Amino acid sequence: MTEPAITLQTFFERARDGRLTAVRCRKCGELAIPPRQFCPACGERAWEAVRLSGEGAIESFTVIRVAPRAHAADAPYAIAVVKLTEGVSLLGRIVDISLEKIAIGVPVRFRPLVRGSQTAVGFGPA
Ligand SMILES: [Zn+2]
Repeated sequence: MTEPAITLQTFFERARDGRLTAVRCRKCGELAIPPRQFCPACGERAWEAVRLSGEGAIESFTVIRVAPRAHAADAPYAIAVVKLTEGVSLLGRIVDISLEKIAIGVPVRFRPLVRGSQTAVGFGPA
């Protein structure tokens, strides 16, 4: 069953419900997340939505010590690139893992960070 390709808005609506969705190119099989308009590999626009497991491992990270005003009370916190088990990487904020324990290779699981009407990508302990 093929779902219609999704927009960024749909991506975040689903993320809010805890569902992490990527798009797969029907021409070349490239997987992309978050969804984009054209395939970075072959330039086609023939996406289908694919639900991901949400599991992955930290590929790289940085600790934000001086945050933008809206997040100032949360600093310090970590932002990581997480390599998902499906092979694609996604940027998100690390939650519920102490900064000393954050390291490359640490397993994490997707978790939506909902604040009012805003949803952001987060990752917590696996
Ligand atoms: Zn492609």
